[in-house]
Amino acid sequence: MYVIKRDGTEVPFDKTKIYDAINKAFLEVDGILYETDTAYDIAVEIEALAEKSLSPISVEVIQDCVEDFLMRSERRDVARSYIRYRYKKEVARNYSNDFIDAISEKLQASNVQNQNANVDEHSFGGRMGEATELLTKKYALDFCVSKMARENHENNEVYIHDLGSYAVGMHNCLTLPLDDLLANGFNTRQTDVRPANSVNTAFQLVAVLFQLQSLQQFGGVAASHLDWSMVPYVRKSFAKHFLDGMKWICDDGVLYSREELMDLPIDSPLYKEQPKPYQYAMDMTIKEVSQAVEGMYHNLNTLQSRSGNQLPFTSINYGTCTLPEGQMVIKALLEGSLKGTGKLRKTSIFPCGIFQCMKGVNREPGDPNYELFQLALKSTATRLYPNYANVDWSGNAGYDRNDPTTYFATMGCRTANGWDINGLGQKKDGRGNICPVTIILPTLAAQVAQLDINSDISKPCQEEIIDAFMSLLDKKIYEAKDMLIERFEYICSQDSASAKFMYENNTMAGYDGKDIRSALKHGTLALGQLGLAEALQILIGCDHTEPRGMELAKKIEQLFKDRCAEFKEEYKLNFGVYYTPAENLCHTAMKKFQDKYGIIENVSDKEYFTNSMHVPVWKEMSPFEKIDIEAQLTGYSSAGCITYVELDSGIKNNLKGLEILVNYAMDKDIPYFAINVPNDSCTNCGFTDEINETCPMCDCDEIHRLRRVTGYLTGNYTTAFNKGKQQEVTMRVKHK
Ligand SMILES: [Zn+2]
Repeated sequence: MYVIKRDGTEVPFDKTKIYDAINKAFLEVDGILYETDTAYDIAVEIEALAEKSLSPISVEVIQDCVEDFLMRSERRDVARSYIRYRYKKEVARNYSNDFIDAISEKLQASNVQNQNANVDEHSFGGRMGEATELLTKKYALDFCVSKMARENHENNEVYIHDLGSYAVGMHNCLTLPLDDLLANGFNTRQTDVRPANSVNTAFQLVAVLFQLQSLQQFGGVAASHLDWSMVPYVRKSFAKHFLDGMKWICDDGVLYSREELMDLPIDSPLYKEQPKPYQYAMDMTIKEVSQAVEGMYHNLNTLQSRSGNQLPFTSINYGTCTLPEGQMVIKALLEGSLKGTGKLRKTSIFPCGIFQCMKGVNREPGDPNYELFQLALKSTATRLYPNYANVDWSGNAGYDRNDPTTYFATMGCRTANGWDINGLGQKKDGRGNICPVTIILPTLAAQVAQLDINSDISKPCQEEIIDAFMSLLDKKIYEAKDMLIERFEYICSQDSASAKFMYENNTMAGYDGKDIRSALKHGTLALGQLGLAEALQILIGCDHTEPRGMELAKKIEQLFKDRCAEFKEEYKLNFGVYYTPAENLCHTAMKKFQDKYGIIENVSDKEYFTNSMHVPVWKEMSPFEKIDIEAQLTGYSSAGCITYVELDSGIKNNLKGLEILVNYAMDKDIPYFAINVPNDSCTNCGFTDEINETCPMCDCDEIHRLRRVTGYLTGNYTTAFNKGKQQEVTMRVKHK
């Protein structure tokens, strides 16, 4: 006598298994285990049934029989318990099947979603990484986070970012203290690296350091003032070339030692006394700087990290150094950006270049770096990079004009560090974002407005609904704070051995050698938001492009700002308002919203929620109007925000217009500003412009379409973006 199990295998019939299962149901109801006649009787009856059957019976049939017999007995309550138990088992079985299905989908790359625009989900490394992430995400939700956090995350209210990295306790991103690392060298697992002795080495070490640091964390790596950081190494290279010049050009031989010259400014009178070697050294140094920059661009676009599936997200801030060495570096960085990389001179995706605008330095004709600002504009018009950081931004108050490590600098995506309450002030180096969460504003608005699947939002909400929204938002801000603290504590509980490179070399500032909290406390806990525009539509039937909407928008942002300031004081941790990039979340949050509330005009009638407090991308307006609107809200944020405008490719013939626009944004106190221009390039001949169907030069129809995703650029958007972001790109209107 045999029984067919669920997996198809056959096992001998065993009466005691039935008997035990029924007794368990009795135990569940009665609370004690005793041997019941009912259980025995049923088991015997089923045995008789199985004997009569010509073929082996299945487990399902046996369980159906048990149910029937129990239902007919006096113990209907036990029958119910048994049914419940059976159902729970079935759910668990399906659940684990779904989970395995999802994992195998990732391992086979059978349904690529492009959640992160820079991961190649088809690659071996990408498939392995994505599959593992499903497991680590589930682990985090099941075992690491509190019930409150889990519910907020699953209910589409407060989203936990990078959940896949939660369980190992990684932090997000970091601005590297390059000045120290280049001057002192650093240790890696296998060797130690000597201090840089030339500008060429220094630039290659920057790429190496970016790479190494990116493996210690899940987010990006940045340099806050790369032009200044390179000054000592330009000097070292210059001294070497000068001595070579002396040796070959001057009859009276070498008058100086390298040690004497190494740290001299390149415009030192000592050099100029020897015009020929001076000129030779100048030519050679310019050449070396430009080759070094090219090498760095090349490395940052080719050296994949994280098991070969991702380029490190790298950003370089520069533009304020007025020393001749720094100017030489800025010029080379911009020329390298203009030139592009590879055979076809493609636009570099990395590093994200960020030009730091500063009054009296590069903004106006006559400023020492004005020419370089012009060159930056030229690069932006065709290459999208650089973006523009505003050193004079009011939100970076308290910075030191004589210390470029305190100048406003940002991660390419927008994540930034504000004033450190634990002693580092506005210093950017050695600090980063520890972790972010994002409040999904439309979900909260839908809850208070009691929307359902048939809702009509044409009637604006009553005043009391808006009050209810503000108090729900306040409650969620408090919970978001608790979620951040929960994760911060989890990250602090890790061993420094997990990120040896980081703690051994003090890439994160402040580590006391004992407790990693001493370093992590200088980072930022980012309280983010998504979909302000859609939330306002639900609440008052218009967004913040109208005065009524702006009034409420300011009230909302003020609440975020006030609470973060209070939390910062109370917990002595750097809470900050964050205008979240939400590259993937904009789409997944919308899908969840639509499942619950359906399609609502101006709210959920598209594939994505509008980014943070941005003006919806489909609104027709001039770039100046867009700046005017967003500039009213950027001041509430200290953990990062970006404003961008869409221009057509004609802007490269109107650099004056572009200059006026960038200066306008800076004067309006926008901290971080970027320009989107179409960047289509022919995969055959390399021609780059806005291209319709086919290349105007060679008629090729395989066009690579590069677009901005969060602040960074990404590869061909029609294949590398998720559905939400793809639709957002097509809905973006040019600001004229
Ligand atoms: Zn072509």
